[in-house]
Amino acid sequence: MLIVQKYGGTSVGDLDKIANVAKKVAKTKKEGNSIIVVVSAMSGETNKLIGYAKHFSKIPAKREMDMLLSSGERVTASLLSIALQEMGINAVAMTGRQAGIVTNSSHTTARIEAIETKYMQKEIDSGKVIVVAGFQGVSEDGIVTTLGRGGSDLSAVAIAGALNADVCEIYSDVDGIYTTDPRIEPKAKKLDMISYDEMLELASLGAKVLQNRSVELAKKLNVKLYAKSTFDENSTGTLITEEENIMEKPIVSGIALDKNQARVSIMGVVDRPGIAGEIFEALAKGDINVDMIIQTTGHNSQTNMDFTVPENELEETKSVMDKLSNDYSSVEYDKAVVKVSIVGVGMKSHSGVASTAFKTLANENINIMMISTSEIKISMIVEDKYSELVVKALHSAYELDK
Ligand code: ADP
Ligand code: ASP
Ligand code: MG
Repeated sequence: MLIVQKYGGTSVGDLDKIANVAKKVAKTKKEGNSIIVVVSAMSGETNKLIGYAKHFSKIPAKREMDMLLSSGERVTASLLSIALQEMGINAVAMTGRQAGIVTNSSHTTARIEAIETKYMQKEIDSGKVIVVAGFQGVSEDGIVTTLGRGGSDLSAVAIAGALNADVCEIYSDVDGIYTTDPRIEPKAKKLDMISYDEMLELASLGAKVLQNRSVELAKKLNVKLYAKSTFDENSTGTLITEEENIMEKPIVSGIALDKNQARVSIMGVVDRPGIAGEIFEALAKGDINVDMIIQTTGHNSQTNMDFTVPENELEETKSVMDKLSNDYSSVEYDKAVVKVSIVGVGMKSHSGVASTAFKTLANENINIMMISTSEIKISMIVEDKYSELVVKALHSAYELDK
């Protein structure tokens, strides 16, 4: 079998843990498999590097950030390869570029355009274990890029797809996908299977156990994707697969929490045709990901607009809003908010899912600031001090602990 295994930050968090991963990889190799390992930086390392950059600049240049952040994954890839060699395993470490991962030039959120598989194929054919530094590639003009936070998952899925691997296993500190983050709700239950679409929603809505774009790509390339635990030998994990492969479809599959949210409220916006277009175009040009938007009914040719952005894009948002100051009378920023979401394919055919959520929050006396829905999800913005309470209350309201 050709197996791609990805080990996240906590799995390679220190030298002993890297040694543990080396043992697992060696075992898989000795069982007669071909194996490509993708590694993250040691846990906390990427944040540490971002902190260093912020010491010098509020909004550091993205090209330089990629140069900086890609270094974390190179450290773990080379160390794991050295550890494997010491165990008598023929291993080779590769950067994203050496592995042939070509991306566009959107620094810090680059998209993979192609994988030149010949470099990895050659090493596989000669029986080597490849250890690829995750989260990174190279643009057409030869400059290092990174794939967005959590992007080593994407590296792994893309490699598995390009090389037609039999399976792609994402190893972390949890035994698979749970009905909600088990760190918040210990009563959360592990799912044996989940559909690509539900997993994509959960990941996009804050369940960082898998990076959302990796799930999207796994669906597109039909990669057999597992989430498993590094630390539990008997981990059966969760299979992420097509909806039709799942026999019993629950109405609600999981609850996600996204703390990386901020609310922007613009008051006294000049109420004229084209104004929303101007504001949101300026934000889009600043690479800011606007999510929920609410506009209130206008009064005296003025209106109010509320929208959410990722909290880590707030500095950029402020700088765009400052330039638009002629279009409104005042603006407020609120970082003390979170987004809680309910996800399930069964919502397509069941009514009453939303009203259960609203009633549950009402019973707890919690105010909902914003709501958005799609076919398979309901999202609500609430004050951050209620995060855990809301997650637990909804988890029990939909009987996910049963
Ligand atoms: P890694 O560093 O290995 O990439 P992550 O920290 O990115 O691992 O992802 C694993 C974490 O995801 C878990 O420790 C858990 O707290 C969190 N998590 C959030 N939502 C879920 C969920 N629904 N199921 C399992 N884990 C979840
Ligand atoms: N090290 C990067 C991050 O922390 C990528 C990853 O871990 O997947 O986001
Ligand atoms: Mg991760």
